[in-house]
Amino acid sequence: MLKLQDVETYYGTAQALKGISLEVEEGRLIAILGANGAGKTTLLRTISGLNEPKRGTIEFEGRRINGLNPDDIVKLGISHCPEGRKLFPQMTVYKNLLLGAYIRRGDPKEIKEMMEGVFDLFPILKERQQQLAGTLSGGEQQMLVIGRGLMSKPKLLLLDEPSLGIAPLVVARIFEVIRDINQRGTTILLVEQNASIALSIADYGYVLETGEIILSGDTRQLLSDEKVKEAYLGL
Ligand code: ATP
Repeated sequence: MLKLQDVETYYGTAQALKGISLEVEEGRLIAILGANGAGKTTLLRTISGLNEPKRGTIEFEGRRINGLNPDDIVKLGISHCPEGRKLFPQMTVYKNLLLGAYIRRGDPKEIKEMMEGVFDLFPILKERQQQLAGTLSGGEQQMLVIGRGLMSKPKLLLLDEPSLGIAPLVVARIFEVIRDINQRGTTILLVEQNASIALSIADYGYVLETGEIILSGDTRQLLSDEKVKEAYLGL
């Protein structure tokens, strides 16, 4: 579904991605593990068109997408849930969700269905529909970021560190829902610093270090890899 070949992204002269090649097959839940500054956010921003790669190609369903505008990439079926719960804090939960369906405006029936789907996954958002997004708890804001991402009805969902700064019990609940979203048919590319929670739901993973993929494998292989155990699982 998604294929990156030798992707290089720079900030000025600083190279953040140093030739990334990876593949995401339809239906899978793939994790990208990496420490602070490894390039995880840059990788997702490059896929969703927010950063332009200097070299390399990104293909989605056989079509080259690098160079397209971010909104055209959303229309093709890729939705990016950013790190740090970037919501519209002065708008209600309901309006934040509606904005996620921007590309589907003009189809109120479908928007209603998508919103019901989101409320089904995160019932708390239904209760809090009229509350300002900025007044939600950290965990609820993360649920809203994911819910907003689902409102464009993506084929591929990009998730940037959904566990960041959230209490462990809430993280566990959010990751159950992420697995559920995948099992209902949405392909997921998840970037995470928290390797143990990411590998608890992913079926394949890549390890990113200073802009390079240094290791990849199915979850079982990664969980038994000495370097992953020591550097990412704290074992
Ligand atoms: P974190 O988990 O801390 O968010 P990350 O793995 O997502 O880290 P990135 O945010 O992609 O890493 O950063 C990769 C590298 O690019 C870092 O060295 C960072 O300092 C640099 N970088 C990121 N954004 C910018 C920017 N806007 N301008 C210049 N350098 C940047």
